[in-house]
Amino acid sequence: MTDTLFSRIIAGELPADIVHRDERCIAFRDVNPQAPLHVLVVPITPVASLADAEDCELLGHLLRVASRVAADAGYADSFRVVINNGAAAGQTVFHLHVHVLAGRPLSWPPG
Ligand code: AMP
Repeated sequence: MTDTLFSRIIAGELPADIVHRDERCIAFRDVNPQAPLHVLVVPITPVASLADAEDCELLGHLLRVASRVAADAGYADSFRVVINNGAAAGQTVFHLHVHVLAGRPLSWPPG
């Protein structure tokens, strides 16, 4: 996988508003937030998309961190996680990331 915007954030080469970091992932605020809380949880290991992800333990960890990020922001009871897989589904950065959205009513189905 080639370098992405997110691998440059992980390397500290680009600024980000980081809310969580551990040995397996980083979480930072989305630069174009779609809700009062909009954080991206990103694995340190570069994986292009969910379809390429084979490490079940890592995937579970990303979801646990997503839940913790929402709870830490005061949204333990109501938040949404989204993974866009592929350009047609809205993926624009090809480094796997989990969107965590909260703080406003979230309608269904998503667009
Ligand atoms: P996706 O469209 O699912 O690939 O999501 C990519 C997300 O990355 C979008 O919501 C962008 O707003 C966000 N984004 C792009 N560049 C940055 C950046 N430098 N810092 C934080 N978020 C970013």
